[in-house]
Amino acid sequence: MPWIDTHCHLDAREFDADREQVVQRAAAAGVAQLVLPAVAVWDFDAVRNLAHAHGFAYALGIHPLCTDQAHEGDLALLRDALQQRRDDPRLVAVGEIGLDHFVPGLDRAKQERFYEAQLMLAREFDLPVIVHVRKSADGLLKHLRRIGVRGIAHAFNGSEQQARHFIGLGFKLGFGGAMTFDRALQIRRLAQSLPGEAIVLETDAPDIPPHWMYRTAAERAAGAGMRNEPAELPRIAQTLAELRGWSLDETARITTANAHAALPRLAALAD
Ligand SMILES: [Zn+2]
Repeated sequence: MPWIDTHCHLDAREFDADREQVVQRAAAAGVAQLVLPAVAVWDFDAVRNLAHAHGFAYALGIHPLCTDQAHEGDLALLRDALQQRRDDPRLVAVGEIGLDHFVPGLDRAKQERFYEAQLMLAREFDLPVIVHVRKSADGLLKHLRRIGVRGIAHAFNGSEQQARHFIGLGFKLGFGGAMTFDRALQIRRLAQSLPGEAIVLETDAPDIPPHWMYRTAAERAAGAGMRNEPAELPRIAQTLAELRGWSLDETARITTANAHAALPRLAALAD
């Protein structure tokens, strides 16, 4: 049963040394499809080229942690890119966009302006969105209710009530490595109790390593790496299967159908 990693930063420099092997290991592990979200205008070409080289999918957008460095003109560049690629079957969403209220020192007004403008672009180009949520679920929901686009709330970490609001707006919620930690009680409770049709799987590689890849600060200081990669997805899925009481086959089937529902062009690629 093939798996879909709905969120992987394959263009990240952490993969520069061995990207081909990372792709091969993912394929060998049964991860058949990856969605590669952009984070800023400078990686639009990289995610598109990687998607086309490997048969993957991509999204174009400006990440909330990148808005501080972004120029106002980058929104026009995003619009140009969406216009230029509007018939590209591998362009499946606008993302990664959103709000981050966890990292200190960011310009919140600028983040919000970029988020709102990108939601409008998603609506204009009739694409779903991939949103980044960190201490920001209510702020995200406020604009989603008004602008009315759907998509995936990736690495979901809000409350159950916020989760249900996203689901009510037609969103799927992304679960990944964080769910594999026993102490991640809230995320595990959500993965267990939310409607099954609302859940998609992701790695967010190279970030959010699962517990078996986690290294303490001391181990990292001594040179140990903890880079996550898409080949870990089936083992992460095992955690979801256990939490839900699903077989691994059911887990693959359900989460694949959910990813296809969230990102319709991904379903078209699979046909
Ligand atoms: Zn991401």
